[in-house]
Amino acid sequence: MMTTPAAPLRWKRVLVKLSGEALMGDDTHGLNMETLDKIATDLAHAASLGAEIAVVVGGGNFFRGFQGANKGIERARADSIGMLATVMNSLALEFAIEGKGQPCRALSAVPMPSVCQPYSRQAALNHLEKGRIVVLAGGTGNPFFTTDTGASLRAAELSCDAVMKATQVDGIYSADPKKDPNAVRYEQLTSDEAIDKKLQVMDTAAFALARENGIPIIVFALKEPGSITAALLGEGRFTVVMP
Ligand code: UDP
Repeated sequence: MMTTPAAPLRWKRVLVKLSGEALMGDDTHGLNMETLDKIATDLAHAASLGAEIAVVVGGGNFFRGFQGANKGIERARADSIGMLATVMNSLALEFAIEGKGQPCRALSAVPMPSVCQPYSRQAALNHLEKGRIVVLAGGTGNPFFTTDTGASLRAAELSCDAVMKATQVDGIYSADPKKDPNAVRYEQLTSDEAIDKKLQVMDTAAFALARENGIPIIVFALKEPGSITAALLGEGRFTVVMP
């Protein structure tokens, strides 16, 4: 599927972070096939332009650790359930991407070799070099972390040029633009500013890890079809968090 880029890619090797909620479309939970199809089309298109893509998928459309903890399940165990939710999403996304004719491999940080390859840095790099999209399941593989932190960690391990954090809005705002009409949108800010202002877009560990490894975070809206490719080409609206 590798072809010559139609326009220069602003970032060549990227780590795309999709929340679990991004896969549920307008549904209340679980997987929305139309949405998966749309995202898979976009990712396959970006790969066909020469982008090397690793995707970290969340699990919030099925289960989050703190929800389990609120019900009385010990936190570490609840987080294990959350990590399994990310594996379910990753397998679905792998299927959708392969359906577009784009080679793809799901790799899980929680080893479960009967369903997908266990994550290793070498395996992921090997797949990326062969033009395959890798979908990284299980976050960091440890409880008490999030898939946002997993995204920064994998971006550093795999020498990615940027983390592309898909959200519901077209960048980072000073407050929730859906609730506060005076919310100001940032074109660019630093990780330190994002941490100091306690901006909710990613957790502190994720910002700090990206900063320490010199990786910018691109925050963009996933809503429109083709938005991942557009952001990769430097088109559309997004906020860049500089390390
Ligand atoms: N999780 C974890 N360790 C990780 C990544 C995720 O324990 O490294 C668990 C945690 O319980 C989390 C759940 O998996 O709540 C789903 O991940 P996340 O909340 O990051 O998903 P998203 O909000 O992106 O859908």
